[in-house]
This record gives sequence, C-alpha cells and structure tokens, in this order.
Amino acid sequence: MSFTFSLGRLGRRVLGGTMLAALLAPLWLQSPVVHAQQKERLLNLYSSRHYSSDQELYDTFTRQTGIKVNQIQAGDEALLERLKSEGKASPADVILLADAARLWKAQNEGLLQPALSEVLRAAIPPEFQADQLWFGLTTRARLIVFDPTKIKAEQIQRYEDLASPALKGKVCTRSGTHPYMLSLLASIVAHQGEQKAEAWAKGVVANLARTPRGGDTDQIKGVISGECAVALTNSYYLVRLLKSPKTEERESAARLGVVWPNQSSSGTHINISGGGIARHAPHPEEARRFLEFLASPAAQAALANSNNEWPVARNVQINNPELTRLGQFKAEKLPVSALGKHQPAAARIMDRAGWR
Ligand code: FE
Repeated sequence: MSFTFSLGRLGRRVLGGTMLAALLAPLWLQSPVVHAQQKERLLNLYSSRHYSSDQELYDTFTRQTGIKVNQIQAGDEALLERLKSEGKASPADVILLADAARLWKAQNEGLLQPALSEVLRAAIPPEFQADQLWFGLTTRARLIVFDPTKIKAEQIQRYEDLASPALKGKVCTRSGTHPYMLSLLASIVAHQGEQKAEAWAKGVVANLARTPRGGDTDQIKGVISGECAVALTNSYYLVRLLKSPKTEERESAARLGVVWPNQSSSGTHINISGGGIARHAPHPEEARRFLEFLASPAAQAALANSNNEWPVARNVQINNPELTRLGQFKAEKLPVSALGKHQPAAARIMDRAGWR
C-alpha cells in the first residue's frame, strides 16, 4: 500500500506525464507485443460435450495453429447460466453445446455473436446452422434398444409405441428434464402437436420400469441387466458399448435389438452438437478458426471415428465399422432450431406428466 502511494507521488514529482501514464496504464497497453502473442495463442472453450476423445482433437488444433485451448466443462444449462452471470466480463470464446435446443436458447438470450465465415457456411448444411450464430458439428439419432427375448421389434417401431399399455413396467428412460429427452419431446410436439405429445409423455411415464435416473448408457445397461425390456438412447452410446474394450459389454450390447423409430412416418429423431462464438469473446478470431477446424473434413472424420457421431459435413470419409454397421435410416426432416422453439412446451409437458 505504502509502496503504491509513494510510487504515485514519485510519478507526479519526478517522472512527468508520459512515464507516469505508462506506469499507471493497464499492462496490456504497455506491452502490445506480449498482448498480441497472448491473443494468438489462447482460446477459452465452454463445452458441454463430455467425451474424452475430444481432447485429442483440441490438441491437434493446438499443434496446427499454436492456439492453446482452455476448456471449461459443465452441463448445457450450467454453462448458459454462467455466461449470463459473467456478462461482458466473460472469458468465453467458443461455446459448444450437446443439444440443438440449448444452442437455440443461447442464441435467443443473446449469448452468441455471428461467425462470419465462408468456410463454415459452405461446410455445414443450412438445416444445421442458424443465422451464422451457431453451427451443428455432429449429428446423433435417438433410437430404441430392446431385449429381443422379451419384446418383438414389431411392438416398438415408433416412439409412440413406448406409451402403449402393452409395455407397462418395461421402459427405461433418463430424466425428462434432460436436453436429450426434452428435444425428443419437442420434436413430437413439432410433428403431432402438444396434446398428442402430452398423452405420449403420460403413457411413457405409466410404463416406466424404474424412476428415471442415469445417462443413456445406464438405460442400455438397464435392458442388458433385465431391469427393463426397452430403452431410449443416443446412437453413439450404443456404438461405444459395441466397441467396448470389455468383452462382456461388447457381447451383451451385440445381443440387443435396435430399432430406428418412425421409419414409416416422421423419421428418427435427430439432434446435433454444435457451437458458436461467445457474444463477448476476447479472442473472436481464434474462436472462428477453431470452429472452422471442427468443420474441416479431418476433424469431422475424427469426431465420427472417436465419438461415434455422424459428421454434419457432406462427403466425409469415416472409418468406424461399428457405426457404419448401424446402417442407413430415414431421419426426421425438421430444422433443428424447431427443437428450441418447442422446448418450453416440452418442459411444461414433462412437468405435467411427472417425468422427473
Ligand atoms: Fe451425450
């Protein structure tokens, strides 16, 4: 304290205006070269992607560009809350979220700025991007897995069938408050309206084998253990088990029945993970380069090969036999932003249905 004071007085008496200004100026004004280097080399990533293989991809980006990626990981909702409370002081540059509705929410709450990038615009199909504010990077399908010794595939060809009284006590799902379930319900609202969506949610709740808990992998394992006969999961969790280093997991996953729901109607529900540049990004240029990197053919292939998702970019060569073996299917034709639009209705329905 006394040092600071005497320096100030010294400045006023001895050093004169220019030097005093230099002393009192913020550090970044004094050393533009250091600042430029820091700006070149750093990127703050807020990510709700929770897949360990992503780090290898970020390391590749750092090797190629010299830009270090500082990652903060949390759930979608927690990240959005954090961004809001940090406001203009937020250090976030890139926001990656694992659900289209949450990206839509980030857009609506003004947490993103446009990424003006011809590379992104050209690489990512229009249905997977919104106003240059966010960009889908991978797609995933929500599919039905079942125990073929207990249920016939014909019984569960549609999401609607999970509400059938014939499945009483047989269905496992994760919480109705989770984005994956909310987005599925939002898509049902989009296709069929709120009334039918609510009847469906109530029917599924009436069929639950247990109180919703755990992630998608826990639902698959619930079918394997016999606790339930049928469950919903994102495609990559199933593929991950099919590729498990544990023989027992691999073999029990291979014994499951798998259905691409709604092939003769609206198509299987698709969601994305994706990202955008934070509204107050201190390093917007690095953020844009990072998103462009993730949309590049090599990174798109890496995401597919390591995390078993599908690339959003077209004509990407992937090398993932277990993923490829899942085969082709009819995906729902719904702009992913519709999932966000119907999310508030979906949340109200989940609440009324008691799908906790
Ligand atoms: Fe996930």
